[in-house]
Amino acid sequence: AREALFQSQKMEAVGQLTGGVAHDFNNLLQAIIGSLEMIERRLEEGRTDVQPFIAATRTAADRAAALTQRLLAFSRRQPLAPRRVDLNSLVTGMRDLIRQSVGAAVQVELRLARDLWTTWADPNQVENALLNLAINARDAMPDGGRLIVRTTNGKLDEEAVAHEPGLVAGDYVVLSVADTGVGMTPEVADRAFEPFFTTKPVGQGTGLGLSQLYGFARQSGGDVRIDSAPGRGTTVTLYLPRCVGAADPVPVPQKPVVPEPQ
Ligand code: ADP
Repeated sequence: AREALFQSQKMEAVGQLTGGVAHDFNNLLQAIIGSLEMIERRLEEGRTDVQPFIAATRTAADRAAALTQRLLAFSRRQPLAPRRVDLNSLVTGMRDLIRQSVGAAVQVELRLARDLWTTWADPNQVENALLNLAINARDAMPDGGRLIVRTTNGKLDEEAVAHEPGLVAGDYVVLSVADTGVGMTPEVADRAFEPFFTTKPVGQGTGLGLSQLYGFARQSGGDVRIDSAPGRGTTVTLYLPRCVGAADPVPVPQKPVVPEPQ
């Protein structure tokens, strides 16, 4: 089973991003320059049949624009709007949307912890993450299967945070999405958080879902882990900071604790 991905690998991934995107972008620029040259040549020859090259230029330019957009969306440190969140209500509120997104062949099961601690996170981002994970799970189960969304109170101990700078051992609210799908090879699991890494056909995968999830988790003071093996399915586990406030059953703050604003 693949478990923790270490920070060094994730940082390396961000480095690889720059090279990969520059390469793809350059390919598109080459296509645009080539088409423009063809247009120039034909016009010089007094010909007017340049439409196909204009279309090709447009297509390449559109794709380059889309690439830049995705890059911007990834690199923009989206301002988070964290607040006190009851993950159980959030997940329950998403149930229908998840069902619709995964289709009838996938059985959706919610396993929500009783007395779940409240968390401190941006609820919109958590919803995006959940939907993304559900869609990844669906893609991993082309012939159907089971999707289990689980919430639990959890802990990360010193060992679990050892390779994650800035991550503190302590209490976390845990949201996991498990599927009975194809699973990941160790090679895929190693690269899954890498921006633009996808094994899906062109047009179907952006390779941004998990890298965005990772960025969101770390920005929120939490983390994300993958446990997967080929043929055994995949579990993606999101750790979000526990919020200890007046209404929380546990009065003694433990790290990591994000105080509630007054
Ligand atoms: P995308 O889904 O657009 O490919 P992601 O960053 O969400 O981008 O995922 C990256 C890759 O990780 C996927 O292309 C796939 O190979 C693998 N992956 C993600 N989720 C799962 C899953 N639930 N089961 C198997 N493989 C997965």
